[in-house]
Amino acid sequence: MADCNETLLEIWRFFDDQLSEAARADIESHLSECTDCLQAFDFYAELKSVVAQSVRDDTIPESLKIKIFECFGDVLAEDDGSELTSES
Ligand SMILES: [Zn+2]
Repeated sequence: MADCNETLLEIWRFFDDQLSEAARADIESHLSECTDCLQAFDFYAELKSVVAQSVRDDTIPESLKIKIFECFGDVLAEDDGSELTSES
């Protein structure tokens, strides 16, 4: 079973659908028993949706969007493809 460090490291990949079935099951079982990691998981879920909204927000400067996208692009990619990069 995954420990906390391992779980926290894998959470992004979990959201990104990059994990094998076994690895996902491992994390899910850890989350069901570990409140700390579950809170982190919820935080990442919320962060992901905030980031996804922010890149669509016209009041945010383009340069900042690019920075956000550089940090989180992999996570967002599955949501809206190349929307941000095709904007120019
Ligand atoms: Zn944990």
